[in-house]
Amino acid sequence: MAKKWVYLFTEGNTEMKNLLGGKGANLAEMTNLGLPVPQGFTITTEACTQYYEDGEKINDEIMGQIMEYIEKMEEIAGKKFGDKENPLLVSVRSGARASMPGMMDTILNLGLNEEVVEVLAAKSSNPRWAWDCYRRFIQMFSDVVMEVGKKFFEELIDRVKKEKGITEDVDLTADDLKKLAYLFREEYKVKIGKDFPDDPKTQLMEAVKAVFRSWDNPRANVYRRDNDIPYSWGTAVNVQMMVFGNLGETSGTGVAFTRNPATGEKHLMGEFLMNAQGEDVVAGVRTPRKIDQLKEVMPEAYNKFVEICGKLEDHYRDMQDMEFTIEDTKLYMLQTRNGKRTAKAALTIACDLVDEGMISEEKAVKMIDPRNLDTLLHPQFDSEALKNTEPIGKALAASPGAACGKVVFNADDAKCWHEKGEKVILVRLETSPEDIEGMKAAQGILTVRGGMTSHAAVVARGMGTCCVSGCSEISMDEDNKTFTLAGKEFHEGDWLSLDGSTGKIYDGVLPTMDATIVGEFGRIMAWADKYRRLKVRTNADTPADAKKARELGAEGIGLCRTEHMFFEGDRIDAFREMICSDTVEEREAALEKILPVQQGDFEKLYEALEGNPVTIRFLDPPLHEFVPTDEEDIKKLADAQGKTVAQIKNIINSLHEFNPMMGHRGCRLTVTYPEIARMQTKAVIRAAINVQKAHEDWNVCPEIMIPLICDEKELKFVKNIVVETADAEIAAAGSNLKYEVGTMIEIPRAALMADDIAKDAEFFCFGTNDLTQMTYGFSRDDAGKFLNAYYNTKIFENDPFTKLDQIGVGKLMETAIKLGKSVRPDMHIGICGEHGGDPSSVEFCHKIGLDYVSCSPFRVPIAKLAAAQAALANK
Ligand code: ADP
Ligand code: MG
Ligand code: MG
Repeated sequence: MAKKWVYLFTEGNTEMKNLLGGKGANLAEMTNLGLPVPQGFTITTEACTQYYEDGEKINDEIMGQIMEYIEKMEEIAGKKFGDKENPLLVSVRSGARASMPGMMDTILNLGLNEEVVEVLAAKSSNPRWAWDCYRRFIQMFSDVVMEVGKKFFEELIDRVKKEKGITEDVDLTADDLKKLAYLFREEYKVKIGKDFPDDPKTQLMEAVKAVFRSWDNPRANVYRRDNDIPYSWGTAVNVQMMVFGNLGETSGTGVAFTRNPATGEKHLMGEFLMNAQGEDVVAGVRTPRKIDQLKEVMPEAYNKFVEICGKLEDHYRDMQDMEFTIEDTKLYMLQTRNGKRTAKAALTIACDLVDEGMISEEKAVKMIDPRNLDTLLHPQFDSEALKNTEPIGKALAASPGAACGKVVFNADDAKCWHEKGEKVILVRLETSPEDIEGMKAAQGILTVRGGMTSHAAVVARGMGTCCVSGCSEISMDEDNKTFTLAGKEFHEGDWLSLDGSTGKIYDGVLPTMDATIVGEFGRIMAWADKYRRLKVRTNADTPADAKKARELGAEGIGLCRTEHMFFEGDRIDAFREMICSDTVEEREAALEKILPVQQGDFEKLYEALEGNPVTIRFLDPPLHEFVPTDEEDIKKLADAQGKTVAQIKNIINSLHEFNPMMGHRGCRLTVTYPEIARMQTKAVIRAAINVQKAHEDWNVCPEIMIPLICDEKELKFVKNIVVETADAEIAAAGSNLKYEVGTMIEIPRAALMADDIAKDAEFFCFGTNDLTQMTYGFSRDDAGKFLNAYYNTKIFENDPFTKLDQIGVGKLMETAIKLGKSVRPDMHIGICGEHGGDPSSVEFCHKIGLDYVSCSPFRVPIAKLAAAQAALANK
């Protein structure tokens, strides 16, 4: 039997998201719930995948089923494509499994042609509406299907408006719109070289293909990468009977959330426009009205809508984001989905739903996107500074957070400036999907037009970027890159501060302060702690980082990169002397100066961690990274060591390596200079003994981690040096301190030989930055040069340095765990690469049985939540 590629809305349900996409599955679910949904059918995500497999073609079988379902739909509707009595008009809407708002394009009013429009005009005795639909259809079809830019049509609209001396679209008459429709058809012919297609079925198939193609447009690809959505999922296509919000003053269209998506507060929030269609509300062309006002304008439709909102929330047990249209006072539901929300709203809504008895704690933990929390962990404006500073403007608090940056006026500039290391605020009349990369590059976004559901607001909330929208007090001159607000003229490069939580705009730079985990955030984290198995440690190099990480809930340090301790103040001097020594004696003299400094730092680390485990990695990077480059510093170093400038330069030159990341670094430094490891061991052990003495109830057990091991003998050699030194220190102090020596697994050979290595290693920690680099054979620092080409050709969907390669690098990890534990069943194993804070990688770490992940301080809560979700998902 042939595969089923097409489903009526009556044949699906919300469980079928993978096949029908989110929009299709929910349209089916709403149909099942008996809600007023214009009927139609969904072409499956599998059909999209098949389309690509067939070389971007819709095969006969799929085509056949689509034609069959058009007939079924015509029957249900009692209307027919192209009919002279009762013509059927449809929308063609994309919908992937995960919602990708604004990423893909929708076509409305499909089925219209010169004849059909006349039929509609005559039958409805509303020619204005008929011609409005037609000109919109030509515009959307040309833009979405044929990629004729929107702007050509907008220019034509502006021209006609100017001729008539009007400013608003609603003031265009039937004749004006008719004229526009014909101008649009001409424009189409000029741009495409063919007549605008009049056959509804041809229109439909072209539109379906366009939706399939849109799955692969650059915007969608960027969005997928950012949101961890696989390319292989594909998008479904929904073909749905049109209902019309542009029939006149008793019709309208709107969008609404059952709870506030910015704050989480429990109240209906939304916007609508009368006599409007589809994207008008979101596009920011006309300023929409607040949903509450619908109560006065059309009480019946409003009450019905409120009732449906309640029904949907109860049914989905989550905040809903809905689209509706009122056609001549009758309400229709066009979409519902679990609404996107800010991190703050996500926490509030989850806690409220638990308190309302709607969901369990487990569900609350599951429904928060860990990536989203990032915004809450970053600084907010200092509350004192806020009190004492007058804002220069206020608009909608569209997406929370504190942002300071230099003003730029378009997305390209935002991207460029960002790449040069500048912080920017993107100021626009309104944003559109083309602006996405610029929005990503910006600290904050400020728009002149648009409401809470405008493109800028929705996208910014999704990205966790601060956004203030709809500041109509701004008088904007985009062409000359300047705007005026509160009497001040701002130019490109001027500093501006935005508070996305209040919608306030400040001149200049406002100071910020650190975030804390309290209130609802604390509640959710406590629930997460209850369900997770993985421990979460932090990568902290300095006592300050360690303290921050503890505040954010770190349960240990998984990686302390000791070399980072030398960047502060004049510490680098002694370190450079160490590097630029000619003899062991010289080196030891320099190390003597470093020892107390390191010991002091380690003591502070142990203090900050209050008896929790601390893993200290011994010196790792190639030494040339630390040598001075400017003449003055070289002279200073020469003087300190009683050498000539030429001698120092000689040493520096001798440190040059062709491939430093695979050169003289890691444990190789200890093999050549054992005295470095001796000094570091002394510092670690002495610090531990001191802190243990001061806090008898803590269990200070240093974990010494040897980097870049590839061979058992190599580890044995280094370990001997460490153990000899440590034991001597412990004996001398009359202490009974316990310590562990372990290794990083970051060279593929070490993973493959992990059973041998485990004989000497008391723990493993996967250094997945190096492990990824060495497994792929390309360096993280150079990958930027070709990754884009790899994305475009679909060789890679993700950056393997951001998202762990679970099948390749993951295979090495699983091998190492199995081999290691076969020799030493009780050894602890963790991960300390950047991946330790990436939610999907955390889930993998849970599954392969790691004991902990270690990540940067700001990612600790994210990793904890991801760990709890992994445990709940794999229960
Ligand atoms: P997006 O995913 O970008 O929101 P949609 O497919 O939801 O795109 O369509 C955008 C808008 O088009 C919707 O908000 C809705 O108002 C309008 N629309 C879609 N289908 C119909 C329809 N059958 N009748 C009337 N309006 C529709
Ligand atoms: Mg929609
Ligand atoms: Mg490494």
